[in-house]
Amino acid sequence: MENNAKELKEQILMKSKKGISTLTQEEIAKADEFCEGYKEFLDNSPVEREAVKYTLKLAKENGFVEFEQDKQYQAGDRIYYINRDKAIALAVIGKNGVKNGTRLSIAHIDSPRIDLKPNPLYEESSLALFKTHYYGGIKKYQWTVIPLALHGTVVKLDGTKVDICIGVDEKDPCFCITDLLPHLAQEQAQKKMGKIIEAENLNVLVGSRPLPCDDEESELVKLNVMNILNQKYGIVEGDFLSAELCLVPAYKTRDVGFDRSLIGGYGHDDKVCAYPAVMAAINTDVPDCTCITYLCDKEETGSDGNTGMQSDFLRFFIYDLAKAEGIEGYRALSLSKCLSADVNAAFDPTYASAYEPKNSSFINNGVIITKYTGSGGKGGTSDASAEYMGEIRTMLEKNNILWQTGELGRVDLGGGGTIAKYVANMNVEVVDLGVPVLSMHAPFELISKVDVYEAYRAFHAFFTT
Ligand code: MN
Ligand code: MN
Repeated sequence: MENNAKELKEQILMKSKKGISTLTQEEIAKADEFCEGYKEFLDNSPVEREAVKYTLKLAKENGFVEFEQDKQYQAGDRIYYINRDKAIALAVIGKNGVKNGTRLSIAHIDSPRIDLKPNPLYEESSLALFKTHYYGGIKKYQWTVIPLALHGTVVKLDGTKVDICIGVDEKDPCFCITDLLPHLAQEQAQKKMGKIIEAENLNVLVGSRPLPCDDEESELVKLNVMNILNQKYGIVEGDFLSAELCLVPAYKTRDVGFDRSLIGGYGHDDKVCAYPAVMAAINTDVPDCTCITYLCDKEETGSDGNTGMQSDFLRFFIYDLAKAEGIEGYRALSLSKCLSADVNAAFDPTYASAYEPKNSSFINNGVIITKYTGSGGKGGTSDASAEYMGEIRTMLEKNNILWQTGELGRVDLGGGGTIAKYVANMNVEVVDLGVPVLSMHAPFELISKVDVYEAYRAFHAFFTT
């Protein structure tokens, strides 16, 4: 018997992904338009507290009201629930409530950055500087010699809170970590990448003029800086001890490329999944199952703490929803399904050897499903089941969503994790679904507009179909 190879290929082999070229110009224009809202979100959300604030504004504008414990909710009700100003859940109550479980889209809103130490301000060689402790996985050298803005919250001795944001407005000053000039860097140039800039050298220059005065006191540059902060915010040096202050890039999000197909900015990981997940909740009317978009904190440092994904906050929220419906909380949780909305590394031709191209994700090929993350023989991953992969795959195909699979780089090269495993540990079905990123964790990350929009379409389909 004769085989027709061409026909057989069509029938049983996977077609190579054509990505963006399968989209119409109208679809691409929709993606561009969607991303205008995303850019606004990103610029307003460099740190988790600000992301919560901006999400709350969007939620309130779209009819979400604050969650009330023990209240009986009706299908279509829209509620928000905030955890310590650093994490926020948006829920749309379904026709069946939580009795068949919930649909969860969970992203994180913290991003790698430079935190101030509890006792940061000092003077050396007539310069005023901040001591810092970096937050999350960074290549330290990337954070020198770029304009930085200071964001955060200070709690004064009398309990009052002061929000600080300096460097975002172009008229504001910014701050900077210095680096050694190349002329004198022969020794530095011999060092390994991780040692070029040592963590204790991530000191931020914040002033250089002494306080104008008549007496002969020491450290007048430091005093001058503290005096400026005191006059502007009413804080004293001791207040740094009860503060969360951090430095992030001071520049705004920009379109990248002659064709404006990409967006460059700080904190795409993971705001680029948070925003589509938020918009999916906002644009869901009356779903079958109660849908929850949850934006959490602390992913970049291991998801520990009461605002991280290892906290019981979301579990308790679902228990509360279940209790109001007369259902056991664990049942609602056990029947729940989740998209862990996080980014993956897009294939970069300049660093091709770090990837295995047959299983890498690519810019403009749509949203990525990552079956497992982890490192070294799948260590530290929940690894989605064939059944759940099958379910999500079918959902994406049925809804005509541009999607691809991804793995985090070549096996045994490194690795990383997401919040998926903490969700799985609650006995919930979960898989990672997100947007491919170039230069992940750098102060200027890149993503494609089309991929962001396809992520939104995926979360929306997950909630509504
Ligand atoms: Mn992430
Ligand atoms: Mn990350």
